[in-house]
Amino acid sequence: MHARLGRIISIPAPTPPLAARTADPVALLQALASQGVRTGRLRHLERIPAREGRPVPWPTWMPDQLVQRFRATGVEWPWSHQVDTADRAWGGQHVVVSTGTASGKSMGYLLPGLSALASGGKPAGRRARAPTVLYVAPTKALAHDQLATLGDVLGSGLAGVRPAAVDGDTPRTERDWAREHATWVVTNPDMLHRSVLPAHTRWARLLSGLSYVAVDECHYYRGVFGSHVAQVLRRLRRLAAHYGADPTFVLASATVADPDVCASTLTGLPVAAVTDDGAPRGAGALALWEPPLTELTGEHGAPTRRSAAAETAELLADLVLDGMRTLAFVRSRRGAETVALSAARQLAAVDPELGTAVAAYRGGYLPEDRRALEAELKAGRLLGAAATNALELGIDLVGLDAVLVAGFPGTRAALWQQLGRAGRRGRSSVGVLVARDDPLDTYLVRHPQALLGRPVEATVSDPDNPYVLGPHLCAAAQELALTEADAELFGSRALDELARLEAEGKLRRRPRGWFWTRRERACDLADIRSTGGVPVQIVQRSDGRLLGTVDAGSAHTAVHRGAVHLHQGRLYVVTDLDLTTSVAVVEPAEPDWTTTAREVTDIEVVARREARAWGAAEVVLGEVQVTSQVVGFLRRRILTGEVLGEESLDLPPRHLTTTAVWWTLDAGQVAASGVDTRDVPGAAHAAEHASIGLLPLFATCDRWDIGGVSTALHRDTGRLTVFVYDGHPGGAGFAQRGYTVAEPWLGTTRAAIMSCECRDGCPSCVQSPKCGNGNEPLDKAGAVALLNVLLPR
Ligand SMILES: [Zn+2]
Ligand SMILES: [Zn+2]
Repeated sequence: MHARLGRIISIPAPTPPLAARTADPVALLQALASQGVRTGRLRHLERIPAREGRPVPWPTWMPDQLVQRFRATGVEWPWSHQVDTADRAWGGQHVVVSTGTASGKSMGYLLPGLSALASGGKPAGRRARAPTVLYVAPTKALAHDQLATLGDVLGSGLAGVRPAAVDGDTPRTERDWAREHATWVVTNPDMLHRSVLPAHTRWARLLSGLSYVAVDECHYYRGVFGSHVAQVLRRLRRLAAHYGADPTFVLASATVADPDVCASTLTGLPVAAVTDDGAPRGAGALALWEPPLTELTGEHGAPTRRSAAAETAELLADLVLDGMRTLAFVRSRRGAETVALSAARQLAAVDPELGTAVAAYRGGYLPEDRRALEAELKAGRLLGAAATNALELGIDLVGLDAVLVAGFPGTRAALWQQLGRAGRRGRSSVGVLVARDDPLDTYLVRHPQALLGRPVEATVSDPDNPYVLGPHLCAAAQELALTEADAELFGSRALDELARLEAEGKLRRRPRGWFWTRRERACDLADIRSTGGVPVQIVQRSDGRLLGTVDAGSAHTAVHRGAVHLHQGRLYVVTDLDLTTSVAVVEPAEPDWTTTAREVTDIEVVARREARAWGAAEVVLGEVQVTSQVVGFLRRRILTGEVLGEESLDLPPRHLTTTAVWWTLDAGQVAASGVDTRDVPGAAHAAEHASIGLLPLFATCDRWDIGGVSTALHRDTGRLTVFVYDGHPGGAGFAQRGYTVAEPWLGTTRAAIMSCECRDGCPSCVQSPKCGNGNEPLDKAGAVALLNVLLPR
């Protein structure tokens, strides 16, 4: 690690005097914030004090030899939460450890897993088969990191422990070796889904000895992806049981609300939570930074805030100029590249050689491009980088002086994970959240407790979603005929879904259960990483080269004709989107604007599932049919966010059956709100936009994962109704979470609207970038009045 950091510093020397380079990053940030033009932008600075660790003795059940191995790697004593987790797992209890970034959560499964392998099995009373451990990580890169960690512990070897990685890159001979001999198999959910489970007879040795299943970074399994992984784990449990194994699940999660509930949804098992973090923590600081309002006016004369990208690029350049090793996380691919280009340009203006000290890294590149950039970063040829969340997991980059996060990354867990890249023992560091011009970010930089207090955000998924469940039931039936008793394992909706699959001719029922009788592989019915449909290929017009792909579900909004697409620092404009062949044709261009698609939506109630009355008002959870159509797009200048114009598009409507949460007011309540009849549609519309913006505070979703519709009088409810729906077929658990936390969620929505300093509504409160009605009508004060009537006293 130190060698690598040494190389980072060996890039062309920055222009400021050497003394400046040893400056404290917190002091430097404060100095930057105190420059006249930046007054007021540093909204909050929280110094996070160092915390002493709580070491405890090694568990008495660990083989001495293993304790010695850990000691040899520099771990004299384990921390309390590590042993608490390990003890429970050793006792056979399913457990999730949910503690801070870099708190050593992996010890929770390493101790019992390695002990079981080294001593020939779990505690007495279990089956005496040669024990095995399965480790599941969300990404290949993380799995390989874990394998390296394991290698450090094992040193020259430990009897009984034979690790191997099994993923898409594993050569056949190595995979064969793993099947025959490995006792610690490191893999990912994709591999389980497509390869290990369908070919379970060849993995019988691994499955029959399965003592522990470690599920790392389990907060990553959320929404539709989380729902798929939950079903993959149920298939794994069924096959393990078939081979006589009863593995204990040990999960590791970032700090979230209710980790035991999330882990339980994921595994389908009762899971205990360990949350009392016993690891030491170095001193750090969290800065909440709000870009200023600019002279520019946005839609309907609303004030426009300087973009988080522009602000982050400037801070990145300033920090790099002072020799600070800085990583900027930017939410979108295009944003990361814009930030890197802008910072590089600012640095080059100071010293042309410094222009190469900053680069962009993002997900979505073809694998070979991605690996080349990873190598650049790892080799330390860069001092600063702008990255998308793709870098969040897997890459081994810690010990930075500063981390900039341009826009709340959607979840508190992701924010702390990204900020956790900063800081090393004995040196201070700073993490900066730069607010974007949206309701959630604005709320967060003004309410630091939402980030520093107890988490309210939960990792949600919906494994019962029939669009997810159906394909996995088919895959399970192909693996091993499904019985009625098995159906219970797959959740309360499994029997209904089996009947439907039978009626559709996908499964056949015979006395021994449901069978898959088709020729194709049933597991191909589910693509666990995508939200469904054929991905759209992005092809360069001049030479037909494939630049990348986008999900079918986001093609209309991401690669419509006229959309600006960024690839490796180059801008492209989409010249044609052919929906029949799923190809978007692009050509290189140099526009200085970005594009945002606008969508109009209509909604129909299909069924009510649950409802709650708040006086005469009602909050409902149910199924809806959503019809949405991308009708045009907005062009905005990249760095200022200035609206340059709107163009219309002619794309077909799309239909979506999904889950929604909605609230209604009766006519008497609407009258009691005092909102003028003509302003009621705008008031409901404003409340809808803000509530969509704030739901990600409570559910691990993104405002693009959900949508909304509001109306003064809905034909299905006969009342004023505001809907918020999951943007994925069948639902992803977000609306369900909104229903569960309706009161704090809508209360926070009201607080966010009220605390915005604008007069009539702006992107920081009630305007939405994707509003298909051009943010019209909107009534900010009316939204607060309606919420006042709605919310229980
Ligand atoms: Zn506002
Ligand atoms: Zn709207």
